[in-house]
Amino acid sequence: MARAAVSRRLTWRAVTIVDTRRETASATTIVLDVPGWPGHLAGQHVVARLTAADGYSSQRDYSIASAPAGAAASAADRDRVELTVQRADDGEVSPWLAGIARPGDQFDLRGPIGQWFVWHPGDARPLLLLAGGSGIVPLMAMLRAHDQVKNEAPVRLIYSARTPADVIYAAELSERSRVIPLQLTYAFTRAAPDGAKTGRIDAALIAKAAFPPPAFPPPAFPPPAFPPPAFPPPAFSSAAGPPAAGPAAAGPPETGPAIFVCGPAGFVETAASLLIEAGHPAGSIRTERFGS
Ligand SMILES: Cc1cc2nc3c(=O)[nH]c(=O)nc-3n(C[C@H](O)[C@H](O)[C@H](O)COP(=O)(O)OP(=O)(O)OC[C@H]3O[C@@H](n4cnc5c(N)ncnc54)[C@H](O)[C@@H]3O)c2cc1C
Repeated sequence: MARAAVSRRLTWRAVTIVDTRRETASATTIVLDVPGWPGHLAGQHVVARLTAADGYSSQRDYSIASAPAGAAASAADRDRVELTVQRADDGEVSPWLAGIARPGDQFDLRGPIGQWFVWHPGDARPLLLLAGGSGIVPLMAMLRAHDQVKNEAPVRLIYSARTPADVIYAAELSERSRVIPLQLTYAFTRAAPDGAKTGRIDAALIAKAAFPPPAFPPPAFPPPAFPPPAFPPPAFSSAAGPPAAGPAAAGPPETGPAIFVCGPAGFVETAASLLIEAGHPAGSIRTERFGS
């Protein structure tokens, strides 16, 4: 059974672009038809492989932006996967995905990958999300999944972007923040809206915008000897399953939030350090780096 699941994730699938949506001047969402998609969890990613006419191919990782298909989803919807790609102008793969690709185009994809940086729908803890740039993508999948299962735990998102025009999913985030329980805080590093200051995420912002750390941090478990590999999933992740939603996981102040941080390596390291300095247990923080 486990072997079959692993082999499904390792298999390259030919996928077809069915739609594209411009999110910002440099970021585009591509909607894919992935026949036989096995389903995914919010936070997982895929590998996209492009192959040129001369046979040269190149592959990159992309987070899944869409929520897992709900129980009531149609067969066609269960095969839909959305990626949001930020174009690196001098990059090899992203300029095609986030600019040239059109409905009807095909490429290869494998996944879903990752058992560590995932949010489980039964997790009753408050959810604290910190995004830098396109690091918002897997966190948006978590927000969408949280809403889809009507999880009532409060959610806070701290999102660092260069300017308001660089905010991916701006309209959807604004709409979601009007509906309790999402609290949205931006940190604009280059240009802020009128009257607001620019600045990077710092201790003052964490103190103001994040959930407080738990009053009684859980005991520290010995860290693994080496970081768990992204693939295949570590045995303990699947064995442990989703965090319990019973009374022990009922929320603050005893347990504190589940925290996910995603973005460029420098952003992730800074944000994780600030959270730990603020008193959040390292074990409650999960990180994903998109590159250097
Ligand atoms: C788990 C994971 C999930 C990710 N999810 C997303 C996502 O959801 N959305 C997203 O947009 N990105 C995501 N990424 C990043 C993505 O995988 C790519 O790294 C990104 O799209 C750039 O790929 P590229 O081929 O366009 O650029 P590359 O060709 O890889 O180049 C990247 C940058 O490096 C520079 N560079 C390249 N070669 C050299 C060189 N020889 N010397 C100096 N500089 C060089 C280029 O200037 C370019 O700006 C994710 C990464 C990981 C690890």
